[in-house]
Amino acid sequence: MTATLELKSLVREIPDFPKKGIGFKDITPLLKDPKAFGAMVDAFVSRWQGRGITRVAVIESRGFLLGSAIAHRLEAGLIPIRKKGKLPWKTHQASYELEYGTDSIEVHQDAAGEGDSVLVVDDVIATGGTAQAACALVETLGAKVAGTAFLIELAFLKGREKLPGRDVQALIVY
Ligand code: AMP
Repeated sequence: MTATLELKSLVREIPDFPKKGIGFKDITPLLKDPKAFGAMVDAFVSRWQGRGITRVAVIESRGFLLGSAIAHRLEAGLIPIRKKGKLPWKTHQASYELEYGTDSIEVHQDAAGEGDSVLVVDDVIATGGTAQAACALVETLGAKVAGTAFLIELAFLKGREKLPGRDVQALIVY
């Protein structure tokens, strides 16, 4: 088995969670397996090492679980991108569309700036709206988006189309 197939076997699909029709990708079996977790972090790090990444932007909440380990290994700073109202200081905000309505994410205004090269990390890219908004936020700060990295891509939802021209890494594709 390749490393990617082994990782895929540790993702558990939960039907109809959190609501009917959603096949939720539960990554907790992978997170609790130290070898698999290490292999996952290695796969991200080997792709981005040596690319001058200065910050890793992690998307609430499961992006935090992956991205902090990646940031540490890349010797980059960690910047949280959070749902509206969670960050305590001055923020920039970006909105994105949900199935019904819109939602917003925020970043601290001093999280990065000109001269920073930022890797945006989340567990899953589905429709791509969250990642698109996260990239826009990073650019609002004056920083450059070096690329985006996801453990899982739901390719049938065509999220990549919302990230045209961006370097997109996905370890597991459905
Ligand atoms: P999207 O903006 O549609 O690309 O959705 C991405 C965000 O929603 C990520 O932060 C994921 O954690 C979460 N997400 C979307 N679909 C799923 C899914 N099927 N399983 C787990 N998380 C998901």
